[in-house]
Amino acid sequence: MRPTRHSAATVLSAAAAACLLFASAVEAQFGARPPNRSSLLDDGALHVVICGSGSPLPSAERAGPCTAVIAGGRMFLIDVGPGSTENLRLWGLPLGNLTGVLLTHFHSDHIGELGEVTFSSWTGGRAEPLDVYGPDGVERVVAGFQAAYELDVSYRVAHHGADLLPSDGGKAAAHPIELTEDASSRVVYDEDGLKITAVLVEHEPISPAVGYRIDYGGRSVVVSGDTIRSANLEAASQDVDVLVHEVLSEALIGGAAQALASAGNERTGKMLRDTLDYHTFPADVHALAADAKVELLVLSHLVPPLPAAQAESVFMRGRAEDAPNEAVVAVDGMHIALPANSDERTIETF
Ligand SMILES: [Zn+2]
Ligand SMILES: [Zn+2]
Repeated sequence: MRPTRHSAATVLSAAAAACLLFASAVEAQFGARPPNRSSLLDDGALHVVICGSGSPLPSAERAGPCTAVIAGGRMFLIDVGPGSTENLRLWGLPLGNLTGVLLTHFHSDHIGELGEVTFSSWTGGRAEPLDVYGPDGVERVVAGFQAAYELDVSYRVAHHGADLLPSDGGKAAAHPIELTEDASSRVVYDEDGLKITAVLVEHEPISPAVGYRIDYGGRSVVVSGDTIRSANLEAASQDVDVLVHEVLSEALIGGAAQALASAGNERTGKMLRDTLDYHTFPADVHALAADAKVELLVLSHLVPPLPAAQAESVFMRGRAEDAPNEAVVAVDGMHIALPANSDERTIETF
């Protein structure tokens, strides 16, 4: 059969129609065209975005733990829990400019999407290996994800060409952080006014586990990682603008563990009960935030990951009526902007 010949105009109008079709399909699914939030990179503020406020228990509205920090042309992700990459892409955050990933420890709910976020930031435009920081052991985690994605990287380079997708961008580089009881904090990144400090926290038997403090333009945020109430973290959180802290409701988890055991499901009951000894309870988080004089406490990594309507009453329990700080329960898409060298703060939800 003779091949059909199309004029340039026909091809162009077909391409335009395909674009329109794609845009309207996206609009039908999400209610709006995907946003582009690249302007957050360079507007002079320190931005904090909760890209996952959940925990290992399933939730329809909370992805696994993930906090994005954007400032001075750079973007870091603190943990990359399951579901977080999709959130970042739906919200139009500038993944192609991802500078690095800061892992707090290697529980699956914190590292599950290291492969996806490496892949998505590469196809988004990142051309160099992704820097991944974490406690001792990060080399194994990075090597494992890299091995799992190696074939896909080779397929994409072969299919699209190395000019479009340089193979280095499909890789990640591990940066182990050495911390000890005697040297419980360490600066892991300090360039052009953006400083990141790792802080040893307490999540036994997972050791070492760290939290991170980020400083930019006279503003500061601390992300706890998983920990019981930690003196190191409290010291690092003195007077910070934002403290994103994990929290576990001992009333709900303890009660559920008891109920499961009573119903004959001793195995699941024990696993649930075990989690009580390495997370922080609401009253302790609120007390730490007050003692450290943080400006705003953001409760995240919610265990259990209750819907927003119920989470408030559970996780605000134990907060003193005269607490000096403000406190909110995180939702996925919470965005806090801290303009440099000011006391201003805005909060919105994407
Ligand atoms: Zn966790
Ligand atoms: Zn953990």
